[in-house]
Amino acid sequence: MGKIIDCNKVNPASGCTHVVRGETEEELLKNAEVHAREHGIVDVTPELLEQIKANIEDEVTA
Ligand SMILES: [Zn+2]
Repeated sequence: MGKIIDCNKVNPASGCTHVVRGETEEELLKNAEVHAREHGIVDVTPELLEQIKANIEDEVTA
């Protein structure tokens, strides 16, 4: 089962509806870092990383 991060939950102020996906947590965090750059975030701080990790969910396939 894959894992997802709803960008809107990490940063509701962004108004971004992008969902980051990954097969593993490692891949997911890497993809999240790539997506963060689209928001102009070059350095993922430990605080942001904690916020991202707190929003990791299992992907539910309908
Ligand atoms: Zn986003």
